[in-house]
Amino acid sequence: MKEETISQFKILTREDKGKRISKNPNIVKTTKGWRIPSETNPNKKYFVKFIKKKLTCDCYDYCNKKNKCKHVYAIEIARYKAVKRVRGGKRKVTKETRKSKPVDYGF
Ligand SMILES: [Zn+2]
Repeated sequence: MKEETISQFKILTREDKGKRISKNPNIVKTTKGWRIPSETNPNKKYFVKFIKKKLTCDCYDYCNKKNKCKHVYAIEIARYKAVKRVRGGKRKVTKETRKSKPVDYGF
C-alpha cells in the first residue's frame, strides 16, 4: 500500500496528515461542504460535509473503515484556525498599532 511508502520517511498520524491537508489552498468550500483534492490522485476529490452536526467524508477510510479520516481532521483544523484567526485578529491589530515602528532584524 502507498501508506507504507510514506511511513518510511515519517510516520504520520491521521491528524498530522489532516494538518498538512488543511493548508492545501485547493480545498473548495461549497454550500454543502468541502471538496478536498486527493493527495495521491490529482483527479480524485473527497467531499467532507456535515451530517447531523457531524463531519463525514466519502473516502474509503471513513466509509469502509469507519475511521475519522485525515480529511475530516483537515476541515476541523481549518475551521478551528479560521475561528482563531477571526478572534485573534483584533488582538494582533492592537499589538501592531502599539509598536508601529518597523522592527529592525539587523539584516
Ligand atoms: Zn476522508
